[in-house]
Amino acid sequence: MPYCKECGEEVPEGATFCPKCGAQIGIDSRSRLATWGERLAAYLIDAILLGLILGFVTLPGFYWMPHMWRVPSFIPFVELGGRNVVNFIYWALMEGVYGQSLGKMAMRIEVVHVDGGPIDITRSAIQAAGKAFLLPIDCIIGWILYPSSGKRLFNYLSETVVIRKRG
Ligand SMILES: [Zn+2]
Repeated sequence: MPYCKECGEEVPEGATFCPKCGAQIGIDSRSRLATWGERLAAYLIDAILLGLILGFVTLPGFYWMPHMWRVPSFIPFVELGGRNVVNFIYWALMEGVYGQSLGKMAMRIEVVHVDGGPIDITRSAIQAAGKAFLLPIDCIIGWILYPSSGKRLFNYLSETVVIRKRG
């Protein structure tokens, strides 16, 4: 079995990305990891589109922004309003079925399994849950644990990475 050059983890034969740290393995030059900037742009596009559909624009995940659907939460950084549920369903379905939300389509990035293949709805739901309900924690823990891998914690848990296809 090959080993990841970044973190030393043993990686399955044929893996395109390290399951532990997300580093690219092998010589698949058709895609690279998406940058945080590309992902943020996709996220903002999704936030605006969902906002237009739902009739108001706020940034999902930013629990401190008051909006009418927000259910007061007594757990720091955890947001459980109806708006978040809508976001969760949107991301879980779009990325589970197409690998891309509308924002990701616009940025030409997509969510894939660490072996480079498509994700199923279960993995999609896991990664979407972190983004919809726990985004600040999800990102901060991801940045601390996997600083060079471009992974949120829930990308790690769902064995997914966000990539950009070349060409
Ligand atoms: Zn690794």
